[in-house]
Amino acid sequence: MNPGTGEFSKNPGIWLKHIGLSLLEFFLPRLCLFCDAAVGEDAAVAVCPKCQGRIEWVVSPLCTCCGRRFKSQEGEDRVCGDCQAEPPPFTRARAAVVYEEPITKAITGFKFGRRLAYLPVMHSWLQQPRCLELVEEADLIAPVPLHPKRLKHRGFNQAILLAQAFPEVPLAREAVVRLRHTAPQVGLKPKERQANVKDAFGVPDPALVKGKNVLLIDDLFTTGATVKECARVLRKAGARRVEVLTVARVKH
Ligand SMILES: [Zn+2]
Ligand SMILES: [Zn+2]
Repeated sequence: MNPGTGEFSKNPGIWLKHIGLSLLEFFLPRLCLFCDAAVGEDAAVAVCPKCQGRIEWVVSPLCTCCGRRFKSQEGEDRVCGDCQAEPPPFTRARAAVVYEEPITKAITGFKFGRRLAYLPVMHSWLQQPRCLELVEEADLIAPVPLHPKRLKHRGFNQAILLAQAFPEVPLAREAVVRLRHTAPQVGLKPKERQANVKDAFGVPDPALVKGKNVLLIDDLFTTGATVKECARVLRKAGARRVEVLTVARVKH
């Protein structure tokens, strides 16, 4: 039985409320998720043209490895100095958009404000050719895991919901798991972030990832400390290649 139906038949009030809300949504004008301006009913996503124009996309020239955008608009894609000095454990990291307004509102609203209405918009951002290139080569998708304590508090893992943008690739929810609780990375310096996530992840079933191209998915790439640590344990468990896809990344 559909898990929702039992609850509805026991309590018709919930059912009526559900119908009522759907009707209300049907009759209300569709509003931009960022500025509340009315959006045409036929718009693919609930973002008005003005806000759409404010979105900064991750475009070339960028680092062929970590995917960071170079400050200068001159030149070709190339490996950045950091990746040359210390090659990361992943092959490529890519993101759709730059973590600036209005994107910050979507990422934080989705993750901390439980505004799931941002999900289809973020899914649409992930359809960039630069992102799809990684998806096409992936054997399986591994969401960056949350610690059970944080999962219980938030109610969902944003990385798993984002991975639903690519139903064609098998999703391995527990390819990587958290072994310990870590403090939030926000506000920590790069070296502190690295130390904070050191040995925080494990691969419970190495056979699942052995010889595979694994695509790690998360919402935001900041210094990459978390995904690097996840990639490191995946490679250690035998993954042939690990790549990283996030919705957004910090500017430089
Ligand atoms: Zn808008
Ligand atoms: Zn780089």
